[in-house]
Amino acid sequence: MGKLHINVGTIGHVDHGKSTLTSAITKVLAADGRARARSLEQIDSSPEERMRGITINVAHVEYESETRHYAHVDCPGHADYVKNMITGASQMDGAILLVDASQGPEAQTREHVLLARQVGVEYLVVFVNKVDVADPELVDLVVMETEELVRAHGYRNTPVVVGSALGAVQAIDAGKRDDRFVESIRALVRALDAHIPDPARDFAAPFLMPVQDVCTIKGRGTVVTGRVDRGILRPGDAVEIIGLAGEGGKPRAVTVTGIQSFHQDRPDARAGENVGLLLRGVERDEIERGQVLTAPGAIRSHAGGEAEIYVLSAKEGGRHTAFGPGYRPQFFFGPTNVTGTVECEGLVVPGDRARVRFALDRAIALDKGVRFAIREGSRTVGAGFVVDVR
Ligand code: GDP
Repeated sequence: MGKLHINVGTIGHVDHGKSTLTSAITKVLAADGRARARSLEQIDSSPEERMRGITINVAHVEYESETRHYAHVDCPGHADYVKNMITGASQMDGAILLVDASQGPEAQTREHVLLARQVGVEYLVVFVNKVDVADPELVDLVVMETEELVRAHGYRNTPVVVGSALGAVQAIDAGKRDDRFVESIRALVRALDAHIPDPARDFAAPFLMPVQDVCTIKGRGTVVTGRVDRGILRPGDAVEIIGLAGEGGKPRAVTVTGIQSFHQDRPDARAGENVGLLLRGVERDEIERGQVLTAPGAIRSHAGGEAEIYVLSAKEGGRHTAFGPGYRPQFFFGPTNVTGTVECEGLVVPGDRARVRFALDRAIALDKGVRFAIREGSRTVGAGFVVDVR
């Protein structure tokens, strides 16, 4: 067994040092023999979203602590961060909140914490950066103010590490591995290890895997790839595909004839793993990203329910005006696009969150906790989670 895999990311106001911190972590851990790879890439959420111009720039690095393997994303710009969180292009188990010690939490710090909370990032670790240039008394105030901010959003026992990303980078470049700022980076990684629990690996639940991608292997058949959300699957098991177009939302039974991971045949696919499943009983062009593979009968399609939503404000690129009962946007569950009606009490104001009922024009695979984007034409105007299905 390899080390447990954890997804994290950096969040915080522009210029507070997110990119510098990302490179400090990789440099320090590389010097300690632990960073694996580094690349700059773009995540395109899906071909559909690419067509709508939703492209997310992210820096993607990987490193290892004593016990874990971390995949770390850093969205350089505020707009990229917002899009990443809304579309769920990269799902974080926890996030590092960067705060500049000479500035304190600023507007985007607050928005990022709010959005992290809204999309279900459960754990934060705070890094108060640039203490090399900040007045020590101010640092204490910034620590207190940041603790208060994260507490106000329901984050408990959040560790706060004080240090300097630039100081760490400069020390490593000068060959000084015992510098105190280098140590602040190690302390940050230890805080990630200690504070972000192992993501729940639910092996006992019925198998469930959202479809990420589909391809054909010559002579073998249709392959779907994705990350197993829960349960365990073995070759020969029957599964259902939920959300096929043109079958009135009815699930289709198919058989899994093979399981692969990193080009190796595997005896099973377990919660948390990224796998490719070879399927019999379905053509490649019938399956698309956003559909779900489940153990037979494990989940059903629904046409509505209750959701917690967050409506982007005008300055976040969202709506300029409030909406009321009867509002009819498009709901994007992955790339699955369904128009629906929102029922709410009174008006929902941009920049606010609200609990609403929604009714979709057709049934799709829905479950509690499923996330969606709310769009008007080509514009993302909000995001939400399903809290109950009907
Ligand atoms: P981002 O916009 O949050 O990604 O911020 P950057 O990483 O681009 O950093 C913004 C500026 O702050 C750059 O000029 C960095 O060199 C500087 N910076 C980052 N970390 C530190 C630090 O620990 N101390 C000092 N003095 N400057 C820093």
